[in-house]
Amino acid sequence: MDVKKRLKQVRDKIKSTALKCGRKPEDIKLVAVSKNQSVEKIKFLIEQGIITFGENRVQELRDKKEIISNLNINWHFIGHLQRNKVKYLMRMENCRMIQSLDSWRLAKEINKRAKKNERVITTLVEVNISGDESKFGIKPGETLNFLNRVEKLSNIRVAGLMAIAPYLEDHEEVRPYFKQMARLRKKANNNDHNLKELSMGMSNDYQVAIEEGATIVRIGTAIFGARNYK
Ligand SMILES: *Cc1c(COP(=O)(O)O)cnc(C)c1O
Repeated sequence: MDVKKRLKQVRDKIKSTALKCGRKPEDIKLVAVSKNQSVEKIKFLIEQGIITFGENRVQELRDKKEIISNLNINWHFIGHLQRNKVKYLMRMENCRMIQSLDSWRLAKEINKRAKKNERVITTLVEVNISGDESKFGIKPGETLNFLNRVEKLSNIRVAGLMAIAPYLEDHEEVRPYFKQMARLRKKANNNDHNLKELSMGMSNDYQVAIEEGATIVRIGTAIFGARNYK
């Protein structure tokens, strides 16, 4: 199957899943995860109307600079971000969101570099929902405290929460993780935060994520096909 067919399938499924659970399809934003995918495929997707791409390595963003500088599209950073790489990201005008804010030290560095570039960067706080110590993210129980601290920083705007659910063959087993994320956002909003976004759901589980309230889905393989790891 080619990229065009796969994209149509994903768009159709996002729409039908949203309608099935009484949500507006336009309330769910699609981020096409283009890591380890070719510039040709990215260009093709731009022609198909995709405007937001997700990347998880700063080096790869720099390698794809030619296409990154296309101001008709924008990029979300979705991977673990090393502090010494933040300065490059903040110079990329159309890097519009860092979805993977996962520590206080990173928050301080992002704030400092955003200030230097006279911009306010939108972020999502990544929550370690699987509880796996080897994974990145703020612990669910520490998320509210973390939000309180980060929201005091002048050049960071927190728009919501992001999570990577554990990979489980049975989609129903993933559902409780998404439910927990939705509860966490609700709790934050009941405590004077204003978190609009819930970024969760990937190729394997985005339909369940939409049913549980995802506003952003990050989809790679289901659109592009398998990644090419050189
Ligand atoms: C790679 C990646 C995705 C997309 O994964 P697919 O299974 O290919 O859809 C989504 N989110 C993050 C954080 C990723 O690193």
